[in-house]
Amino acid sequence: MTDTKKTNRRDFLKLAAVGVTVVAGSRLLPRAEASGPTEAGPHKWAMVIDLAKCTGCGQCTLACQAHNDTAPSISWNTVVESGHIGDQKIYIPRPCMQCEKAPCVDVCMVKASTYRPDGIVQMDYDRCIGCRYCEVACPYGARSFNWEKFDGSNPVVPQWGQPEVERRPRGVVEKCSFCSHRIDRGLALGLTPGVHPDATPACVVTCPTGARYFGDLNDPKSYINILLHERSTFRLREDLGTGPRVYYIPPSNEEG
Ligand code: SF4
Ligand code: SF4
Repeated sequence: MTDTKKTNRRDFLKLAAVGVTVVAGSRLLPRAEASGPTEAGPHKWAMVIDLAKCTGCGQCTLACQAHNDTAPSISWNTVVESGHIGDQKIYIPRPCMQCEKAPCVDVCMVKASTYRPDGIVQMDYDRCIGCRYCEVACPYGARSFNWEKFDGSNPVVPQWGQPEVERRPRGVVEKCSFCSHRIDRGLALGLTPGVHPDATPACVVTCPTGARYFGDLNDPKSYINILLHERSTFRLREDLGTGPRVYYIPPSNEEG
């Protein structure tokens, strides 16, 4: 896997100024000793988000809520305002990081949270007993609990897309899946996730500024590998050892 390149000192100072560590560290738990996937598959999906391009419009959040049919009170993909650099406001979109060593997987006593061979941390909603240990263990606040059964109409449908997955029942924890259903369906049709919109997470496809990129870390020619090679990137709370598969290009990057 491509290592995260070091951001330069100026980037770090600016990121500290916009509160990156605050975003990720507000629910900090001791480092988990989670084991990684037992069987690696041919793909390893990852996302790159260019913070210089994110305007905080929130369209990714709305598309996610529509395609994954989440309750209005639940957002698998949040966008957090994190201060500004000069006149530019800085926003940090936060999907599930699909951690390589995920604390949520480690604490799940009924194996409702597991690793797919492609690295995506998946939920088995039939197994989840709603103990919420995973919600507490996730250092990124990426999990939500279904307190109520969502049986009304979805206010962001059809404007922001049509539901593509089953609604989850009351009493389970849910989270972003990198739109694994789109990836699987696309691969079955011979499409390339990250290249073909139908095989790519809805947030990536919807972003009007092209701030999000998606692709296969195992494919040396994938555009995200080119980005990771050519641009400085960072990941949230790398010090925790979770190995997030969401990389951020700092907002100051283009300034050199
Ligand atoms: Fe940022 Fe794109 Fe999401 Fe808008 S859609 S908030 S620009 S990542
Ligand atoms: Fe689990 Fe949170 Fe990591 Fe997602 S971001 S894999 S929910 S620990």
